[in-house]
Amino acid sequence: MRPETTPSIPFVNFAGAPIQPAPDALAALRAALPGRTLAAGEPGYDESRGIWNAMIDRRPALVARCADPGEVQTAVRFAAAHGIALAVRGGGHNIGGRALVEGSLLLDFSAHRDVRLDEATGEVVAAPGALLGDLDRATAPRGWVVPSGIVSETGLAGLTLGGGFGWLSRRWGLTCDHLIGAEVITTSGERLEVDERHHPDLFWALRGGGGGCAIVTAFRCAARRMDPTVLAGPIFHRPEATAAAAERFRAQTLEAPEEVGSLLRLGAAPPAPFLPEELHGRPVAVTILCHGGESERAAPALAPFRAGGGLAADLVQPRPFAAFQAMFDAGEPRGKRNYWKSEYVEALDDETLAILLEAHRHLPSPSANIKVFSLGGAVARVPADATAAAHRDARYIVVVATSWDDPAADAANIGWVRDAWRRVHARSGRGGYVNFLTDDRSPEETRAALAGVDLARLRAVRRTWDPSGLLGGEA
Ligand SMILES: Cc1cc2nc3c(=O)[nH]c(=O)nc-3n(C[C@H](O)[C@H](O)[C@H](O)COP(=O)(O)OP(=O)(O)OC[C@H]3O[C@@H](n4cnc5c(N)ncnc54)[C@H](O)[C@@H]3O)c2cc1C
Repeated sequence: MRPETTPSIPFVNFAGAPIQPAPDALAALRAALPGRTLAAGEPGYDESRGIWNAMIDRRPALVARCADPGEVQTAVRFAAAHGIALAVRGGGHNIGGRALVEGSLLLDFSAHRDVRLDEATGEVVAAPGALLGDLDRATAPRGWVVPSGIVSETGLAGLTLGGGFGWLSRRWGLTCDHLIGAEVITTSGERLEVDERHHPDLFWALRGGGGGCAIVTAFRCAARRMDPTVLAGPIFHRPEATAAAAERFRAQTLEAPEEVGSLLRLGAAPPAPFLPEELHGRPVAVTILCHGGESERAAPALAPFRAGGGLAADLVQPRPFAAFQAMFDAGEPRGKRNYWKSEYVEALDDETLAILLEAHRHLPSPSANIKVFSLGGAVARVPADATAAAHRDARYIVVVATSWDDPAADAANIGWVRDAWRRVHARSGRGGYVNFLTDDRSPEETRAALAGVDLARLRAVRRTWDPSGLLGGEA
């Protein structure tokens, strides 16, 4: 079959205006990437545009599954020559579906998941489609780690470009703090090595600014030495102990050493065999802990979180770190309708806790939950202007999240998230995480997510490397 030279989904520029490249030019692109460009209706097209959040249904005009950076340059030059919107897909986990733009040329990197660790230097090179699980499997069993996020199917690319926090952030900082260099293709098709010494402004922007500056074809990260086994796991509290658990979390997160990563989850008890049946489906608090330091320090450091009454199950135990990183994957499956909002907060004051506990009593779906991640430590020690990551001084981030299947339940789920978030935001007045911005984000929400970041510098980087705005960088 001859590949389409007039795709059924028209190409657009970033303002959404249709663009019709000459059939010859499109035919030349498709011939240059034989079998690796896909138009609507061709096998593999729907797979490339299928992302984690089923609420996002957008159709690129053409998908390019480039085999190497040279092919990325070819595809990008085609887009640049015609002013076509470019989209990039890493792990496809962005809640707002940022990897999908209607009518774009989509660079789908999801087949490129290679991660290589050089044990002599502690340097990791990750391909742009690498998932966090790929990273952990290549490093953790050998006693190394690049601190990242908490669900192993999330893409390293988007996570790093927006910052990246997880169990080890307090000890070692954000994922983007471990980025030591990147290979990028600019929207003019130039291939660059970027690091502290080469194109430092672009390197600054790649670390937390939320993307939209250039296309990264390789991430170079500095790994840390860490025991392959960590003391980690969830503690389930009984329903009547929810408020006490939240207060204990607040108190202990202020005391705990930086090796302790922790999160409070207020949701419904899963129908799990380790929980008494009468608790299944009832609102409960879960404290999830991970000690990323020396093993002899682990048990004493976690003990205060595990003390006190009202426990329904304590599953904290020594676990391979890579396995622990995948422990919560099943709770965040691909293909459901999802809506989240987040807010950085200085403190879990009584009013904020009351808002969260109130929302917890009215969960709109079995998977609805509120998570409070403890931050601070090494995250806050990196100077605010050293990278484009925002809100480093916040002590916690609150995430209100829900997932469901039936579109008829959209309003109830979205309404619950927005209502709880609005009340937390009114107290905090900060903003959310740039990587958790939803599709309906307002320009104010985007700016609040990047509060404290030198936006003039970020815009200047985008003007330099993506002067036509093909990547649609915001703020
Ligand atoms: C279940 C789940 C758990 C999560 N947990 C965490 C967590 O613990 N910590 C945390 O910090 N975040 C977490 N996140 C948020 C996550 O960081 C963002 O969703 C991030 O955007 C995902 O990256 P991705 O590559 O999978 O996304 P994609 O949707 O593929 O891409 C996201 C954005 O990055 C751009 N992009 C992707 N690849 C490239 C590239 N190679 N070059 C240039 N731009 C590129 C895309 O164009 C898009 O704008 C989680 C998200 C989900 C859904």
